[in-house]
Amino acid sequence: MDRPTLFDIPIDNVRMDEAVGLILERAQECSGEKERFSQVSFVNADCANIAARNTRYHQVLQSSTLVFADGIGMRIAGRCLGVPIVDNVNGTDLFPQLLTAAATSGLRVFLLGGRPGIAAAVQSWIERDYPHVTVVGVEHGYFRPDEEDDVIQRIAASDAHLLLVAFGAPRQEEWIQRHRARLGVSVAIGVGGLFDYYSGRIPRAPLFMRKCGLEWCWRWYQEPRRLTRRYLLGNPLFLLRMLCQSSQASQAKPAGSAEKAVRHKGS
Ligand code: UDP
Repeated sequence: MDRPTLFDIPIDNVRMDEAVGLILERAQECSGEKERFSQVSFVNADCANIAARNTRYHQVLQSSTLVFADGIGMRIAGRCLGVPIVDNVNGTDLFPQLLTAAATSGLRVFLLGGRPGIAAAVQSWIERDYPHVTVVGVEHGYFRPDEEDDVIQRIAASDAHLLLVAFGAPRQEEWIQRHRARLGVSVAIGVGGLFDYYSGRIPRAPLFMRKCGLEWCWRWYQEPRRLTRRYLLGNPLFLLRMLCQSSQASQAKPAGSAEKAVRHKGS
């Protein structure tokens, strides 16, 4: 499979429908063989910024089974760094498509994260719109450290194929990695603020904004206090990092080609 890297993170550069297929395949193929575990991560510009300063998170992304490029920032970076991104594979758009595609698979899902009551509201939405999918457990994301073992045991006992963890990056990815052996699921995905949208707590950006790659502006408008730092500082930082990488790559190229030419001459 085409797995180029961006910011030293391997990307599964596929279309949305292919990503859905890959996840479902792993959820089904592995059921009954619980030792086979897949971690799925989404990477957007903010995640790339976090990974640049957080080695542990960077390593989790590098070792994830599947990593998808989420949002306009990754698309711009891909174009600039010679890795054209074929689709915006973000968790919020992917999830309903995954539920639809699971029509015949008897998928069992556990929802972990969000404020109290939010995962339960997502469960109601799934049960109403996707009755072929079974939600085998929900748990909010504000449990105390001494409650963590209990939460993990409940997930393992639920017999879920798929676990969605909505704590925000990097906590959710690190949490999945740390507890993967005890979760007893086939696939675990870090989904950020997804539950807030499908519970109706936060409205999603209008379709035209999503199509123009401006969903982040909408999120900023919805939660300015929490997200101003992320976007006001994070976006320029991301672009700067991208330009640095691009100039390093173009400086490295002639030297590489010269070296190749010398080797060729000598051979
Ligand atoms: N959250 C949680 N437990 C925490 C902190 C956050 O469950 O200790 C939830 C929070 O309620 C929200 C999500 O994690 O639903 C984080 O969403 P955010 O938009 O920050 O994630 P992103 O998509 O940007 O990674």
